[in-house]
Amino acid sequence: MPNNNKKTNLKTASQDSLPADAQGRAVENTGSRKIQQQRATDLVKSIMKGQRVALGRAITLIESTRPEHQELACQIIEKCLPHANQSIRIGITGSPGVGKSSFIEYLGAQLLKQGRKVAVLAVDPSSRMSKGSILGDKTRMEKLAISEKAFIRPSPSGQSLGGVARKTREAIVLCEAAGFDTILIETVGVGQSETAVHSMIDFFLLLLLPGAGDELQGIKRGIVEMADLIAVNKSDGERVALAESAKRAYRNALHLLPPKENGCLTKVVTCSAKTGEGIIEIWQLILDYQEVVKKNGFFEKRRKEQARYWLYETIEGNLKRLFFENEAVKEKFSKIEKSVLEGKMSSFQGAETLLKLFLEK
Ligand code: GDP
Repeated sequence: MPNNNKKTNLKTASQDSLPADAQGRAVENTGSRKIQQQRATDLVKSIMKGQRVALGRAITLIESTRPEHQELACQIIEKCLPHANQSIRIGITGSPGVGKSSFIEYLGAQLLKQGRKVAVLAVDPSSRMSKGSILGDKTRMEKLAISEKAFIRPSPSGQSLGGVARKTREAIVLCEAAGFDTILIETVGVGQSETAVHSMIDFFLLLLLPGAGDELQGIKRGIVEMADLIAVNKSDGERVALAESAKRAYRNALHLLPPKENGCLTKVVTCSAKTGEGIIEIWQLILDYQEVVKKNGFFEKRRKEQARYWLYETIEGNLKRLFFENEAVKEKFSKIEKSVLEGKMSSFQGAETLLKLFLEK
């Protein structure tokens, strides 16, 4: 799109944290492939050295909706892909307040002590960078945030769930290329976001609160079925007995579920993100699980299925974008939509007409 007011355009929020050289020049140089490629190569070099600032900048490009940034982001991802895949990807879910951030802070600190490099990403479609959104408030992970060996990134904001998930999937690739060997993905345990997260992780941990039975009603059955491990958090002080009885109740409830394809039983344990009780044991269970699924082939199978899922998802997403950006479609869309809403045209006929316009252009 022509831009007559470059100054204003350059001041948009998505630009603020871009590399200095990308600011301003990005607009002027969109035509110059060579410069783009050089920029991508430079950023990838810095990412490969594990530089967190470069990693953050590249993720900002991924999250940007500007076509020139998307093109640059695509090149960076392509270059990083051969260096990806070398991590364990763990999803952590649970209702707000269950202790996800506290859990990640504690586990992350332990893993750093073991010499691991930990990246924490979030999938939170409701995030508007507001207070309360997951990871929006980084102070909740103070120790992790200051460590050189950790990288924390809040959920991309202002996007649909599909958009957030796709960008997080791409951010994983960059984090892995930067040498992060443990990727923790936090999401809220309330709905669709789990399905999206499930399609990018190797292990899913569901955190629940003590208080037998009640919480399962707030957590959809599908999420419980997706979990590879359930941990009843806040098992400390007066809540220990309650947590133990919740653990038994969940174990009984899990018996009613069909056996899982990964050949593993979903275990239920208790822990406390406050005292740290049980958290190292959970990490060991994750490592044990990984060993089993790597041996029985499920690990590889799941990653392949995920690759296929993202192939289809990306095609679908890009086709949709191309459709809605198509000039002929844009011109006629409101009119056809109005006719459909007024009952003058069927939804199918409306869609057909628009698709025809799209294909003809
Ligand atoms: P999130 O919304 O799931 O990320 O939950 P947070 O980690 O922000 O925790 C919510 C509140 O519960 C905070 O006040 C934490 O200090 C507290 N909390 C988290 N884990 C525990 C725990 O294991 N025991 C106790 N007693 N409090 C905890």
